[in-house]
Amino acid sequence: MKATEIAALFNEPACSHNAKEKSGCARPKPGATAGGCSFDGAQIALLPVADVAHIVHGPIACAGSSWDNRGTRSSGPTLYKTGMTTDLTEQDVIMGRGEKRLFHAIKQAVDDHAPAAVFVYATCVTALIGDDMEAVCKAATQHFGVPVVPVDCAGFYGTKNLGNRIAGEAMFRHVIGTREPDPVPEAAICKLGPGIKVHDISLIGEYNIAGEFWHVAPLFDELGLRILSTLSGDARYREVQTMHRAEASMVVCAKALLNVARKIEETWGVPYFEGSFYGVADMSHALREFTRLLNDPDLTARTEALIAREEARADAALAPWRERLRGKRALLYTGGVKSWSVVSALQDLGMEVVATGTKKSTEEDKARIREIMGPDANMIEDGSPKGLLNAYKDLRADILIAGGRNLYTALKARIPFLDINQEREFGYAGYTGMTELARQLALTMESPVWDKVRRPSPWAQTKTAGTPMVV
Ligand code: SF4
Repeated sequence: MKATEIAALFNEPACSHNAKEKSGCARPKPGATAGGCSFDGAQIALLPVADVAHIVHGPIACAGSSWDNRGTRSSGPTLYKTGMTTDLTEQDVIMGRGEKRLFHAIKQAVDDHAPAAVFVYATCVTALIGDDMEAVCKAATQHFGVPVVPVDCAGFYGTKNLGNRIAGEAMFRHVIGTREPDPVPEAAICKLGPGIKVHDISLIGEYNIAGEFWHVAPLFDELGLRILSTLSGDARYREVQTMHRAEASMVVCAKALLNVARKIEETWGVPYFEGSFYGVADMSHALREFTRLLNDPDLTARTEALIAREEARADAALAPWRERLRGKRALLYTGGVKSWSVVSALQDLGMEVVATGTKKSTEEDKARIREIMGPDANMIEDGSPKGLLNAYKDLRADILIAGGRNLYTALKARIPFLDINQEREFGYAGYTGMTELARQLALTMESPVWDKVRRPSPWAQTKTAGTPMVV
C-alpha cells in the first residue's frame, strides 16, 4: 500500500467525528502501540475466515505473538488454527530470499491443505527489505489456481486498529465482489412458509468469540434473513466474496471495519447501521434496524412478534439472576464497542456501572456512553494495574469486568473479575447470551473463594518470637 493510502485509513470519513468535525481518528502517540501492531490487528480481523491458509511473511516471532489470539470459533474447517509462516532468518534477509521463500510457503500450503484461498500478511521485516508481496501473490494465484491475497500490514504502520482497517481494505480490494451468491436453497424457502421473502444480509466486525454468534444466528434464520457472510466470525472465503450482494449490513464493531461498510455502500449501494448484540435492548434494536433498512412490512410484523417472544423468554430466564445482581456495582474496563454495549447489558440486569474504560474507544463510542450513562458518565483512561485498583476502591465496585490481561491484577488484589474480551470462554451475545452473562457475573461475585482468600494469612498473624504458630 502507498503511504497516502495508509494515511487515508487513519481518517475514516464514516466515523461521525470526521464527518461532523473533521477532527481525524485518534493517532498513536510515539512509542504507543495500543496493545498490538498493525500486523496483529490485521490478523485479528481476518484469522476467523476458517477455510483460508493464513501465512505470516516474516520472522517466526510475529506469527507466534499473533497466532490464535482470539477465541473465535468455527462450525466447520479448522485450517485457520494452523499457524503458518515463512520463518525468515537473517540469512534470508541478507541473501534477498524473502520472495522465493514466500512462493514456496504458498506452494506448501496449497499442496498440503488445499485451502479455499491463501492470505499473506506482511510484517516489519518484509516491508523494510522491500519484498514485492503483491507481485508474488499475483504470480502464485496464476500458478496454483488458488486466490492468494496480500495483506500489506507491516507492524510499524501503526496501531492494531489501523491493522483492522488495512485487513478490511484488503478484503474490499481483492475478495468482496468476486463471486455471486448461491441461490437460496429450496428447503430454506419451504421451511419459512409460503409468501415469505428471504432477504440477504451481512455482518461486519462480528468475530464469533466463544461461539456467541450461534446464539443469534437461529433468530435470523427464523426471520428469513440469510447471512451471506460475516466479516469474519465463522466465515468462509466464498461467503466473503458475496458480501456486496447483501441488501443491508450491520457493523458490529464500528472501530474495526467501518471502512468496509462505507465502501460497500458507496460501490454497491448496500446500506448499513452500527449496532450490538449485547443486552436485550440492543439485540432487539439490531433486529429492528434490519427491518427499517429492508422495508418489508411482513418482515417487520414477524420481527416484532419474535422480539416480543424472545424478550418475554429472556425476562423469565433473567428474573432470578436480576434478584441476585440488583444494585451491584461494576467497574468496566474494555475497549471500542464493548465500552458502551456492555454498559447497556449490565444496566438491563439492574447493575450500576460505576465507570467504563475508554482508552480504545472512538468519539462515537464515548457519545453512546454518555447517552446510556448520562452526561456525567465516569470514563477512565488509566488502565494500569494501579489505576484500575484505585478506581475499584474509590468507586466502591463489586466486580472488575475487563480483558484477560487484567486477570492477574484482579487475582492478586483478591477482587472478583470477569473476562469480557476475546479470550473469554463464554458467549454473551443475543438473548440467551445475556442469561449466560448474568450467570457468570453472579457466580463470580458470589464465589465462596473471596471470603477465604481475604482472610489474613497465617503468617500475617502476630506471634511471640520463638513460639510455634497456632492456626
Ligand atoms: S511490530 Fe513488526 S516485528 Fe513486531 S510483531 Fe508486529 S510485525 Fe512483527
